[in-house]
Amino acid sequence: LLDALTDQAAVAIERTQLVADVDRAQLAAEADKLRSALLTSISHDLKTPLAGIMGAAGTLRDYPQAMSDGDRADLLGTIVEESERLNRFIANLLDMTRIESGAMQPTMSPHYVGDIVGSALHRADKILARHKTRIEIPADLPMVKLDPVLFEQVLFNLLDNAAKYAPEGSLVLIRGAHRGGWVWLEIIDEGPGIPAEDLERVFDSFHRVRKTDHVRAGTGLGLAICRGFVEALGGTIKAGSRTDRSGAVFTIQMPLNPAQVPERLQ
Ligand code: ADP
Repeated sequence: LLDALTDQAAVAIERTQLVADVDRAQLAAEADKLRSALLTSISHDLKTPLAGIMGAAGTLRDYPQAMSDGDRADLLGTIVEESERLNRFIANLLDMTRIESGAMQPTMSPHYVGDIVGSALHRADKILARHKTRIEIPADLPMVKLDPVLFEQVLFNLLDNAAKYAPEGSLVLIRGAHRGGWVWLEIIDEGPGIPAEDLERVFDSFHRVRKTDHVRAGTGLGLAICRGFVEALGGTIKAGSRTDRSGAVFTIQMPLNPAQVPERLQ
């Protein structure tokens, strides 16, 4: 009996091994597919602005006389804008590489989240010029230990998205709260929102909800970077929907480090 059981066990192990091998092969094939899709997407995102720059620079070089001042200014404007887009994309790719290789080394110190919201809003001043903004952050919100540069980048990416996807004239609300050992921050807009089946996937690199979202010229990495940065700071970030009307809600939760929480001076 023992021999028979041992044989059966050996067969079962062998079978499991076979299944594992098939799973591994399938996983490797899927990883390869993903990698080449990623490379195609990255190449496309690099080529598009480059094509704009080359076209504009070529025209400036080939027709220097036959051009009005206005046309020249337009072409130079294209070169500057597309170079900025390229620069942003490469900076985002480098951020993603740092996150994925675990090479992020946040410099943590205690901060009032409201101060960082203020500087992110200041940085997003131009892109939010046609939206209304409101901050609802209680004055007694405790300090949180975080890296202010990374945290500001997270808020900036979320504000940038609100500006891109929510219509002009609509309200972008930034709300803060303190509950159960955590500081919460919500960025709420009045745009089309995010369908339930995409709420998790929007944090994947290059995932877009609507086909038309590509036109808005984001890098497709904004939310992936947000999640990578927030998690590197010990927090969490999730996407949700408004219940009262259409619109996206991004919720960041940062842990309080009690040792680092002095009372806020009134
Ligand atoms: P990008 O905006 O460059 O495409 P992101 O990673 O920032 O890349 O966002 C991923 C996708 O999530 C966007 O393409 C869009 O479909 C969706 N999304 C992000 N923020 C919002 C928002 N505030 N409202 C509606 N959809 C959003």
